[in-house]
Amino acid sequence: MPRPAIDLFHETFGAPPRAAASAPGRVNLIGEHTDYNGGPVLPIAIAQRTTAAIGPGVAGDAGVLEAVSTRYQKVVRVKWQEELPQGWAAYIAGVLRELWALEVVPPNGSVRVAVASDVPVGAGLSSSAALAVAAAKALAPSLRPRQIAGVAFRAEHDHVGVRCGVMDQTISALGKRDHALLFECASLEATQIPFGARLLLVDTGKRHDLSGGGLNERRAECEDAVKRLKVDLPELVWLASWPAEWLPRLKRALREPLRSRAVHVVSETARARFAAQLLQQGKLKQFGRLLYESHESCRRLYDCSSAELDTVVAAAKRAGALGARLTGAGWGGAAIVLVSKSDKKTAPAIQRAFERAYGRSAPISEVKASAGAHTERL
Ligand code: ADP
Ligand code: MG
Repeated sequence: MPRPAIDLFHETFGAPPRAAASAPGRVNLIGEHTDYNGGPVLPIAIAQRTTAAIGPGVAGDAGVLEAVSTRYQKVVRVKWQEELPQGWAAYIAGVLRELWALEVVPPNGSVRVAVASDVPVGAGLSSSAALAVAAAKALAPSLRPRQIAGVAFRAEHDHVGVRCGVMDQTISALGKRDHALLFECASLEATQIPFGARLLLVDTGKRHDLSGGGLNERRAECEDAVKRLKVDLPELVWLASWPAEWLPRLKRALREPLRSRAVHVVSETARARFAAQLLQQGKLKQFGRLLYESHESCRRLYDCSSAELDTVVAAAKRAGALGARLTGAGWGGAAIVLVSKSDKKTAPAIQRAFERAYGRSAPISEVKASAGAHTERL
């Protein structure tokens, strides 16, 4: 798996790399739109990974980053302290700046980076976090996973300028084979929970553009809801911290659409924590029912589903799947479907329903909870 990045490094720079590391993409099981509201999420790291191979730059070439990716042939060359490159190499420059702040990388350090990946870009599987975490791990292998996640998060959030939550980098750095991670986005508490179930990923083929409309509008609505609710509860910082037993009070305080958005966030918070408990106890059937409920809440209250996603979830339910829901923000993208080990009907049933509705097929793959970031042998 690390071969393509190592080969690309060699071909591009005419020398072998000095180190390499890889990091996975992710799928979130439950806890949708809770991350930026300070609630829990329950992601797994997936088998698809991004590898970064690194080596020193030319002697005398102080403070220069040279970066190449199998995805964008051209070699990017920048003084990483002075300018942030356009496009993808900004993630690497951001990582370098953060490592410099931690005094792991010298201020005039020159670095060459080659990247290869099988995490699809923009499919809701978090290729951006896989890239930043892989680079951070390759450049600073002795940092703890939490620190790696922090470096990658700040690279994306502060330097590239994406208003992301901290979930993606955390699961990419901390992921564990056959485990899901219950991650509390306000307290940053993380708990590994065994997850060996069969999970299908259905790609609706509709790319969601998160930079446009939907996500930013929802974030603003949630901020407005908090402002209004502070009148009742001045110490409220995160929308997800509103007590679930005070839902009637919340409903009285807010008008639509803020009411629906807030009810989703507060109930999804309770649902994700409960789901983690059920998973811990091996109660897969009940866990699956919460996935369906989560989808309904996303669809009706948060208004972040799409016709394609609803078609997939409805077909899964009719076929007797344990659970199904949209994942990765919604408005297109992918759905997950939880099935029993012996289930053979659900995937073909979804495929038929999708083809009937849209005249094309939706790629279905199995996802396995896989390992987080690690160094690669050269
Ligand atoms: P995703 O949901 O896949 O994380 P984002 O829009 O957050 O989507 O991140 C995608 C961006 O991450 C790409 O536009 C590119 O800048 C960067 N990226 C991801 N994977 C790679 C890669 N293998 N090589 C270069 N850049 C990458
Ligand atoms: Mg991303």
